[in-house]
Amino acid sequence: MTRLVFIGPPGAGKGTQAERLIRERGLLHISTGDLLRDAIKAQSALGVQAKAAVDSGGLVPDEVVIGLVEEGLEIAAGRAGYILDGFPRTVAQASALEAYLAEKNLPLDHVILFDIPLELLEARIKTRAERLREAEGSSRSDDNADVLRRRVGEFIRATVQLGPFYEQRRLLRRIDARQDVEAVAAAIASTIGA
Ligand code: AMP
Repeated sequence: MTRLVFIGPPGAGKGTQAERLIRERGLLHISTGDLLRDAIKAQSALGVQAKAAVDSGGLVPDEVVIGLVEEGLEIAAGRAGYILDGFPRTVAQASALEAYLAEKNLPLDHVILFDIPLELLEARIKTRAERLREAEGSSRSDDNADVLRRRVGEFIRATVQLGPFYEQRRLLRRIDARQDVEAVAAAIASTIGA
């Protein structure tokens, strides 16, 4: 069973790489962002609670996302493995995950950090915001330049804490996310093995 975490800012290519691994290896994609957007769309109690934070690019409370992830991990139990995408974003989340997995004796294999220089990210964010403006409007209410910038800020704050957390545990693998899709996929494959 392959147990992975993807850490990276919006625009780093996590989603694209996750899709590939799901297709090629049958992994389950557990994206807290997707789960929160679904909950908001369904107007569930959790969705109502999370909406303001998601719309403004802030963080949803730890206990909310931890609950969502634990549900996802239950579903992943019978699968070839999973990719946690967008979680953890705080040390509290990382510690909760670690405790949960330790209890099941199923620790993480790799934490893949999508490394990308901030200047390049800023450029990608601008392009993405422009594309969204040209389109008839985004299906994501949090996809505009200001909110994206805030989300990048949140990402930087998160990585400053999570980088050392996973480095200490020898789980952190940095991937150069400036490369094209194929090269990034190859780098991930060589990191996680066949
Ligand atoms: P994403 O699709 O991963 O960029 O997430 C979209 C939004 O969902 C974020 O900007 C946060 O508001 C919220 N969110 C997703 N994952 C988390 C998390 N692990 N902790 C807190 N908030 C989260």
